[in-house]
Amino acid sequence: SYRKGGYHAVRVGDQFAGGRYIAQRKLGWGQFSTVWLAYDTSTSAYVALKIQKSAAQFVQAALHEIDVLASISEGVDVNSKCVVQLIDHFKHAGPNGQHLCMVIEFLGDSLLRLIKYNRYKGLPLNKVREICHCILIGLDYLHREHGIIHTDLKPENVLLISTIDPAKDPVKSGVSPILERPEGSINGGVTSLIEKKLKRRARRAVAKISGRGASMGGAEDQKSMRNLDGIDVRCKVVDFGNACWADKQFAEEIQTRQYRAPEVILLAGYSFSVDMWSFACIAFELATGDMLFTPKVGQGFSEDEDHLALMMELLGKMPRKVATAGTKSKDFFDRHGDLKRIRRLKFWPLSKLLVDRYKFAQSDAHEFSEFLLPLLDFAPEKRPTAQQCLQHPWIRAMESNEKKESSVENVGAGMSNLKIKGGK
Ligand code: ADP
Ligand code: MG
Repeated sequence: SYRKGGYHAVRVGDQFAGGRYIAQRKLGWGQFSTVWLAYDTSTSAYVALKIQKSAAQFVQAALHEIDVLASISEGVDVNSKCVVQLIDHFKHAGPNGQHLCMVIEFLGDSLLRLIKYNRYKGLPLNKVREICHCILIGLDYLHREHGIIHTDLKPENVLLISTIDPAKDPVKSGVSPILERPEGSINGGVTSLIEKKLKRRARRAVAKISGRGASMGGAEDQKSMRNLDGIDVRCKVVDFGNACWADKQFAEEIQTRQYRAPEVILLAGYSFSVDMWSFACIAFELATGDMLFTPKVGQGFSEDEDHLALMMELLGKMPRKVATAGTKSKDFFDRHGDLKRIRRLKFWPLSKLLVDRYKFAQSDAHEFSEFLLPLLDFAPEKRPTAQQCLQHPWIRAMESNEKKESSVENVGAGMSNLKIKGGK
């Protein structure tokens, strides 16, 4: 892909925007771009530099992403809104063509990495709650204040804030920036040493967040569990390459397969509530380490039909009105609203699944599924909004936990009042 129209090859120490930004190390890549950690010489800060492939369709996509990012970065204090902030953008000419570059705030690992580091076992529920709280603040901001639908919400597209991960943050770890191209090969001495050091520290920090010791014994595990309480898990929503406005949509088929809402599969039109469906899938995955739905093609049925079957096994039969609302409905459902090719469904309700397979305590399973099930309503207009979710007792429990810790006596007094009123 490093050819005409493709990625721009970057080397450590390369300069961008007339020398303002200096490439430090590669952070990641996507279908459209490579993302580098860069040092901003004009503000003495680290930033993420997203360098788009140069072919016309990628330039177009980048212009769209810049458009969305610029509009959400405007005015308000975006920092408190849990969406990534655009700092700058410019064109960069290279041997493979003209590349649009976005300068965005430097963030940490994605939720997908966090789930992986935790060996797919699921995070402690209070951490899931904190992450959910952040994502909801981001979604509420996008939906209500900008009329924007993200359309590709998934663990990869939610990044932890790097400051809670000091080992990954070059500012906090005290590693000084590379200001010019190192002698010798790209991965020459200096760079790889820094890289190793950062990686080792990153593993330790993520171990703390996810609540496991970094391959240490039981005592260390307990220590890291205790340390966990002090960490404020915060994150931000990123990757607006596919975002659209509720009243200005570009694609009919949206979302990554496992996070795709039923109305998208049926091609029945969509709105903000598709993000709420994906959000529920993410919350489940954080808590269990497993994806909620992993549809597969089978003998005599498609991936789409399997997906619908999996949804109905978890959530019950799809109301006929919803099932028949899309232009593709007839491909999957007969006139009674039953699937054409997958007949016998094994109903396994969410709270039972959480207890049986994931060994949740009964009360945790009950509370968590009370929170998730309304978001997984087959009827899109019945799903709660991000704003409503922020008021839900399961999310609010976070604030009241914090209050409890700070004023145990008041809570005690409140409890005895309740008893008197209840007459018991
Ligand atoms: P694409 O649109 O090509 O998929 P993304 O915006 O998803 O690109 O970025 C690709 C990868 O780069 C991400 O999965 C992540 O690992 C990394 N990345 C992106 N933005 C940042 C950032 N602000 N800070 C740190 N890493 C980032
Ligand atoms: Mg991406």
